[in-house]
Amino acid sequence: MSDTPKINLLGLTRPEMESWFVNLGAKAFHGRNVLKWIHKHGVFDFDAMTDVPQRLRDLLRDKARVAPPRVVLTQPASDGTTKWVLELEDGQHIETVYIPEESRSTICVSSQVGCALDCSFCSTAQQGFNRNLTAAEIVGQVWLASRLLGHPPSNVVMMGMGEPLANFDNVVPAMELMQEDLAYMISKTRVTISTSGIVPALRRLREVSDVSLAVSLHAPDNALRDQLVPINRKYPLEELIPACKEFVQHDRRRKITWEYVMLDGVNDSIAHAKALIRLLQGVPSKVNLIPFNPFPGTDYQTSPADRVEAFRQRLKRAGIIATTRKTRGDDIDAACGQLVGKVHDRSRRRLQRIPVVQESYQ
Ligand code: SAH
Repeated sequence: MSDTPKINLLGLTRPEMESWFVNLGAKAFHGRNVLKWIHKHGVFDFDAMTDVPQRLRDLLRDKARVAPPRVVLTQPASDGTTKWVLELEDGQHIETVYIPEESRSTICVSSQVGCALDCSFCSTAQQGFNRNLTAAEIVGQVWLASRLLGHPPSNVVMMGMGEPLANFDNVVPAMELMQEDLAYMISKTRVTISTSGIVPALRRLREVSDVSLAVSLHAPDNALRDQLVPINRKYPLEELIPACKEFVQHDRRRKITWEYVMLDGVNDSIAHAKALIRLLQGVPSKVNLIPFNPFPGTDYQTSPADRVEAFRQRLKRAGIIATTRKTRGDDIDAACGQLVGKVHDRSRRRLQRIPVVQESYQ
């Protein structure tokens, strides 16, 4: 046994895997084969990798491991949505949500333990920030989902706990692995990064990745957005909007999805809709209205359905594609902004009412 900690191969992209194998004195193609075993076949035991020579397998056992997060709790909601609570190697908990639909299966992936951004209407914010996830922990959520579902998801949204662009160096390789032919083969249009708008990171992302972009807008002017999404004080709308526009400008078919949580009496009037129309003029846009998902301790309330619909119609009349997000999994706190990443008292109480499947991987 060597003294250096074993590397978790789960988080290595194809080029990283190839050079790691070459450094080990093996051939790059062995790295590609191992990548395929891990992600396509879900194998984490080197001895089961039958096309890897025995001597190399022995070396791998000594130097490396494949360690996905562990499912500690499976909570199915009444609408088919499932929340998995995952335990990481240091005992932290995160949440991953599976959202089945007729024509697709979407996994909502976390990028951090907690979140530092403090959006006033998000329950993850109340938990505070603990740490970034590693690339292995991020792609590990897709690894696990693929095993549990029996197939890779058709879509991944980076909309779980955390701000993905605040964890750029781990999120980018993880998203590469999601798209990798030897791994999950999810097309770039079906991998979506959702950000509250960290402008310099968005510019950097444009240089290295071409995934779909969703932006948490939530307000049509700086004064209101400063309150709802405090990162706006650092990167206000006059910086955010052009950076988003640049992100999609290489492809005329691309649009930015603007997420807009509908908060009763706060941002949901026709005047707000008009201001939003003005703001998005000339920007290739889709607006996704999200009914606010309440959580204990919040003062916000969900806008009435007819007000959401009036807002949507106003945008539509101005030629903006606007949809209302169906709330999924809210009976198990798996909806947007309800992920808190620990098995807290409240979910323990809920366990008595919801059928629970205990699962353990590894
Ligand atoms: N940090 C990323 C991912 C967050 S979650 C981001 O800000 O985009 C995905 C979406 O859910 C975001 O648009 C977020 O603002 C929204 N959201 C957060 N809390 C919510 C709540 N309680 N109800 C509805 N949507 C919420």
